Amino acid sequence: MSVINILAPHVADMIAAGEVVERPASVIKELVENSFDAGATSVTVEIRGGGAAYIRVSDNGCGMAAEDAGIAFTRHATSKLADEKGLECIGTMGFRGEALAAISAVSKIEMTTRRACDSEGTRITLDAGDIQDMLPCGCPVGTVITVRDIFYNTPARLKFLKSDRSEASACQLTALRCALGRPDVSVRFIKDGSEEFFSPGDGRGDSCAYALLGRETATGLMPVTGDNDGIRVTGFASSPAAGRGNRAMQFFYCNGRFIKSQLLQAALEQAYKNSLLSGRYPSCVLYLDMSFASVDVNVHPAKTEVKFSAERRVFDTVYYAVLSALEAEKPLAPAVERLSPAPKEGFYKHMTAAEYRSSPLASGKQGTSEMQLRAPEEHYQTRLDLSSPASTVRAPQPQYTVSGHSAEKPRSAAPAPAYTAPKSYFSVSDGKTPAISPVSAPIQPPAEPACQHNVENCVQNVESPLVPEHKIVGEAMKTYIIVEQGDSLILIDKHAAHERMIFDMLKSRKSEIMSQTLLCPVTVRPSGDDAELIERNASLLGELGFEIEPFGERDYIVRALPADMDAGEVAPALEEICEKLRRGKAPDAQSARDEILHTVACKAAIKAGWDTSAKELERVADAVLSGQVKYCPHGRPVSVTMTRKDLDKQFKRIV
Ligand code: ADP
Ligand code: MG
Repeated sequence: MSVINILAPHVADMIAAGEVVERPASVIKELVENSFDAGATSVTVEIRGGGAAYIRVSDNGCGMAAEDAGIAFTRHATSKLADEKGLECIGTMGFRGEALAAISAVSKIEMTTRRACDSEGTRITLDAGDIQDMLPCGCPVGTVITVRDIFYNTPARLKFLKSDRSEASACQLTALRCALGRPDVSVRFIKDGSEEFFSPGDGRGDSCAYALLGRETATGLMPVTGDNDGIRVTGFASSPAAGRGNRAMQFFYCNGRFIKSQLLQAALEQAYKNSLLSGRYPSCVLYLDMSFASVDVNVHPAKTEVKFSAERRVFDTVYYAVLSALEAEKPLAPAVERLSPAPKEGFYKHMTAAEYRSSPLASGKQGTSEMQLRAPEEHYQTRLDLSSPASTVRAPQPQYTVSGHSAEKPRSAAPAPAYTAPKSYFSVSDGKTPAISPVSAPIQPPAEPACQHNVENCVQNVESPLVPEHKIVGEAMKTYIIVEQGDSLILIDKHAAHERMIFDMLKSRKSEIMSQTLLCPVTVRPSGDDAELIERNASLLGELGFEIEPFGERDYIVRALPADMDAGEVAPALEEICEKLRRGKAPDAQSARDEILHTVACKAAIKAGWDTSAKELERVADAVLSGQVKYCPHGRPVSVTMTRKDLDKQFKRIV
């Protein structure tokens, strides 16, 4: 007897459905994409609970004739692809003819649809893919599909669904991604009867981003445009000041389709290499448009992964468009750079966006440019290479200021500093007067002045008077402390060193971290499944000084936070902590605690770009020179030493 069975079509459909319908959010993606393909200008998505029980997508698109409505739920039924030739040039969101079949195989469906040329529409109901009923009906032009009880007939899958809250936030994110990709379509998302977002559909990217991402994110966005031989990029990217703790606000689209692409992510982040602190990520909404033939969307059933035929050119277009937007925001490059034009070699790494635009590469005319010959890893190289004297001169850096900190106040280099921490917060306490809390986010002075954070606090427990004799020459770029010690010149990264000092201090307190109660509690609205992570890790967060309670349906109120942290840092800190917890960076409670301490230390430390008093710089330098602080909590060195010999060699005083 044969052991191989040919599966019945309905069983095969249920298996295939798994590729398309992973969770309720996948149903939303497929239905909204169908509405877009149907030419709708208005789409409404409604869910109840987590979406598994009820999803309804209504549109005002072209609708279907009765005979098409009957076969739309059959596998490989599509109006978007006639034969294999069409596969090379896909201009619609769908083309596989699989989604409706897959969704209907694992749920109960009701659809009403009507074309403008018909006087009556069609109503069809299906149960696990089988048509139950199909009748003419009166309905508006367009299509309404209601999906109920997803996975009711596949309990194994049902089991894998997360909590209603998680599923609902995945549904909302999916609808938002779709909506953001089509500013010309008005998309409304309703959850349990209340409207969560509504995009205007006026064709304007800025109003769409504002409506969907909120005022705070949208106002930090700069316009981006670039064009490179048939590849066009438009959209928005965040100004460096608006960096975030995760990549949740990075949205890439290719020909209207939301895509996940490491290539685009690398191109974006490379452009910010010198303007964002490590651990901070840019936000963006970038739309790439190119010929349908130059991108393959048929890589994965979910169609969120694509293959570009000209990867290098796509990378360059995005990289230079974003760099150009950032340069437009920045002050002019320092004179030292203008005096020393970039030599030909290393051209790729150091060309500015303006130079790129006027070069033949921008038009894509130069077939075998250096850019095409270089390995992709070079995109990740650092621009400022201290070992090469030439590159130090020509690397495009922001304003460069060196000033003796004792007498002269450092010149304020950038007109709008990226980080606007109130100076008073970092003033060195004299031990009697408590440091003043920032005005923008009032903090109640902690009960015990000793637990307040400032640089002095971090070193007061340091029992190492062995600080070698040295001279602080000044501070460069509001980032590096320049120290002369014996025959060496030492550059200290003030943020990295201070971060380590705080981290060590917090860690040495072992079990208890001082918490400060806020006079004005801060409200935060976690995105995605952050809310669930916060709730699940409430006791860990509590142990570390956070007091967080649910507030309303989606908000949380933060009543207390670690004593060293600024209230303005609460939202980004929680975002970063959730990202760490989500990525499973912390396998056990102790490492979870350390990971969170990293974040607390980072948020509490003085930042590059801030004015720092002479006394604080001195304290940080002492901690480094005494050998107490060598690496930041992430393992990066906090100082770089150049000996007289190194310098003499570079100046060719000796060979
Ligand atoms: P695909 O989108 O890959 O063609 P689907 O299974 O998603 O496959 O849809 C099958 C067909 O049903 C589509 O090709 C289209 O003709 C029709 N259809 C689906 N949704 C809509 C809609 N909202 N409006 C009009 N036609 C639709
Ligand atoms: Mg489809």
